[in-house]
Amino acid sequence: MIDHQQEKPLAPSLPSGLYVTATPIGNLADMTGRAVSVLKSVDFILCEDSRITGKLLRAYGITTKMRAYHDHNGDKMRPSILAALADKKAIALVSDAGTPLISDPGYKLVRAVREAGHKVFTVPGASALTAALSIAGLPTDRFCFNGFLPPKSAARKKLLAPLLAQEITQIFYESGPRLPATLADIASLAPSRPLAIARELTKLHEEVINGNAKELATLYQGKSVKGEIVLLIHGQTKTDHAQEENLDTLLKTALEKQSLRDAVAEIAALTGLPKNTCYERALLLRSASKEK
Ligand code: SAM
Repeated sequence: MIDHQQEKPLAPSLPSGLYVTATPIGNLADMTGRAVSVLKSVDFILCEDSRITGKLLRAYGITTKMRAYHDHNGDKMRPSILAALADKKAIALVSDAGTPLISDPGYKLVRAVREAGHKVFTVPGASALTAALSIAGLPTDRFCFNGFLPPKSAARKKLLAPLLAQEITQIFYESGPRLPATLADIASLAPSRPLAIARELTKLHEEVINGNAKELATLYQGKSVKGEIVLLIHGQTKTDHAQEENLDTLLKTALEKQSLRDAVAEIAALTGLPKNTCYERALLLRSASKEK
């Protein structure tokens, strides 16, 4: 007698479409059951790096073939992906880790697939962004995700200054080696601002360090930091805002009557704030007044 149960395919066929599939951010066990089933069932998997995704697929006994899709071949690949979807194929998109499109490739592909009238399905799961936010101890009701900060300090501070003036939690992806310099920049702009550094989430050395910008900049100064990091900054509070407005008023008055250097020295002595903080603020005020 034939056992029909055994004849059932392990990987049932899926409706045609692009399956944007999250994968773990470090701990292989964070793969969802649905992600495994989808990756087994699709016709092929688009991935950034087949060595990284191959490791995940082997761990889950998934034998589906992979094709590379990344920032360098996206333009070339999209027509053939659209053709495969027109041919009723089911295709998964994964990134090296976490949720595709979140500081990872895929946005132009999703847009093109939707514009062509094909289905896009989500297979949700881990993302360093939400994992960090959910354990950092900073307000979660409103937040702004900013991806990676610029590598150079001047550009970084230019981007940070207006974000630090917002009342919502600001979130960045950061690398270990760059962390000390980034913390120093934040400390120069907003020394008392509470931060959280979420490092190596879901891995053996997972940690979240809380403190204000000045404390953490001092703690990490000159250190070589390893691992992957999400940096979270508390939004500006009404007290911060009042203090910064007060500092701006004092600096503007001081700048009218003397050089930038003397104005910074005077206001640092008057307020007890670090010279660096007054200096950064004075530079911002001066460039804002030049732009007017
Ligand atoms: N798409 C991914 C996601 O959903 O989280 C993010 C990809 S982005 C190219 C990689 C960055 O995410 C890392 O540089 C780091 O800032 C952050 N990240 C990824 N895994 C992490 C982890 N386990 N712990 C902390 N941050 C992580």
